[in-house]
Amino acid sequence: MEGRIVKLISNDYTVLSNETTYVCKSRGKFRNMNISPLVGDKVIFDDKNNYIMDVLPRKNFLIRPSVSNIDQAIIVASVKDPNFSTNLLDKLLVMIEFNSVKPIIVFSKLDLLNKEELEEINVYINYYKFIGYDTYLNTDIEEIRKLFKDKITVFTGQTGSGKSTLLNKLDIRLSIKTDITSKALGRGKHTTRHVELLTMYDGLVADTPGFSSMEFYGMSIQDIRDNFIEFNEYRENCKYADCMHDKEVDCAIKEKLKEGIILQSRYESYLNFIEKKVLKWYYQFQL
Ligand code: ZN
Repeated sequence: MEGRIVKLISNDYTVLSNETTYVCKSRGKFRNMNISPLVGDKVIFDDKNNYIMDVLPRKNFLIRPSVSNIDQAIIVASVKDPNFSTNLLDKLLVMIEFNSVKPIIVFSKLDLLNKEELEEINVYINYYKFIGYDTYLNTDIEEIRKLFKDKITVFTGQTGSGKSTLLNKLDIRLSIKTDITSKALGRGKHTTRHVELLTMYDGLVADTPGFSSMEFYGMSIQDIRDNFIEFNEYRENCKYADCMHDKEVDCAIKEKLKEGIILQSRYESYLNFIEKKVLKWYYQFQL
């Protein structure tokens, strides 16, 4: 039978198939092949002996939390208290894009803004929409509920972004263990917490936030560049095919920035990310 691993405790894999769960063991051959089934994996299993026979190819996987085949990540971005951070939002977008996951942005706490602040924030919201991202406000509860069907979803966003408030409004019985996770991370790199997928609105939702602690894991500066999605619209007009849109002459991205088509904050995030990445690389070789 075919099913989906939704939970892992010790060596017991809970497999969901046709709305029934089976607690299965993994066959030794996975250990020999150096493959461990992950939560999120689609598997072929023997429902009589409760053994996982095969793991179907993965679309993607995250290391922390350990989960595969994620379809979408809902980023909760606070516009006030904590203040809106284009840098943080752009960082999450780039990492999520790189992992072939669809980002969805939910802006929160707009009710805390005065008129001028609201106008300013709308410039950003409209820009993210314009470059192709699905964006919602945290008051769009009915629309957000419809996003989960037949998908594996993870939530992300900084502490205090209004993630818990949104989850409560969505009536997701969480459980999203934000505080427990961050405490666990503080205890050292080897602490792992297994994720569980909860059935919500005809889809599956990870009970542990994703992406926030990844820091461009596995990405090169070229990967960072290639995941600023709107840059890809114009880059073929750069003089150099491998243009990093930084010091180069005749750069279409810098041209679009001057014209006001690319948002200043996006370009600043971009330079900041590649610079940090290069510095990190440099110091690694100094030590
Ligand atoms: Zn360029």
